[in-house]
Amino acid sequence: MKDKLEAMLIAAQQAVATAADEAALQDVRVQFLGKKGELTAIMKGMGALSAEERPVIGAVANKVKDELSEAIEQRLVLLKQEAVSQRLANEKIDVTLPGRRGQFGSKHPVTLVTEELIEIFSSLGFCVAEGPEVEQDFYNFEALNIPKDHPARDMQDTFYINDEVVLRTHTSPVQIRSMLKQAPPVRVIAPGTVYRRDSDITHSPMFHQIEGFMVDENITFGDLKGILTTFIHECFGKNVGVRFRPSFFPFTEPSAEVDIQCVICGGKGCRVCKNSGWLEILGSGMIDPEVFKSVNYDSERYSGFAFGMGLERIAMLKYGVNDLRLFFENDVRFLRQF
Ligand SMILES: [Zn+2]
Repeated sequence: MKDKLEAMLIAAQQAVATAADEAALQDVRVQFLGKKGELTAIMKGMGALSAEERPVIGAVANKVKDELSEAIEQRLVLLKQEAVSQRLANEKIDVTLPGRRGQFGSKHPVTLVTEELIEIFSSLGFCVAEGPEVEQDFYNFEALNIPKDHPARDMQDTFYINDEVVLRTHTSPVQIRSMLKQAPPVRVIAPGTVYRRDSDITHSPMFHQIEGFMVDENITFGDLKGILTTFIHECFGKNVGVRFRPSFFPFTEPSAEVDIQCVICGGKGCRVCKNSGWLEILGSGMIDPEVFKSVNYDSERYSGFAFGMGLERIAMLKYGVNDLRLFFENDVRFLRQF
């Protein structure tokens, strides 16, 4: 019986050592120490033993029982520790991994160009002004020396709300509003949205302009050339050629259109510049005394110049975009490039 007990202990110890989890260990306990377990089965033979043998075997049986219980307890502690380590390993967070980035938007190319131009003109002493997009006829046309019968008022070009109210066709009304508000000297730029009844590959019914003007005593065409040349060199590079061509606008006299050397071909001639080597980028001129009359500026004492340009046009040339419509489609693949 003693041999049986010792053999059982060895078998039980092996079973304990290989029990993979708490449930398996519980099965081992039941198999060997349970009421119907192997130890109980062996001890049923006690009745056949002599009076001298009985306490000896009893002591062995107790020792086996204690050792086995002890082994099971130790294994249980170990299994619990392992389970905890396992869980910690599974749920471990690697804090050194880079985080997942959210999707960031980027600024629209027209916004980027607007901001750059504001920065350039601010450095030249210009302040930013704004005005309404739904504008009175007086500010949009009349005060700018564009009387009722002028071709610029053609129904083809202007969105009329009613006879006296329009969607502004240019940012020039901000010039009038600013001059009515303050006496010279003034240096103002006015970026904004404008509207015209036009839509094709080079025209959009809604687009953006920036208007600028400067009024003081003794402002000459030389100041106009100096400021605009400085702006162009800041915007397109120090070496880009600039030329002024005589032109006509109702609100300036004399007027000039300003060209820059083609930024695509460097002046050699290409499709974009129609082989001329030059690209028109803005209109400008000395403010007409008629305009000063509308805002009660003394044209004997003050003179000034004004200029305006399309912001989409500047963005197209700066970023090499060849279709105006890309700016308004809001295709994320296009916008992400900036
Ligand atoms: Zn060219």
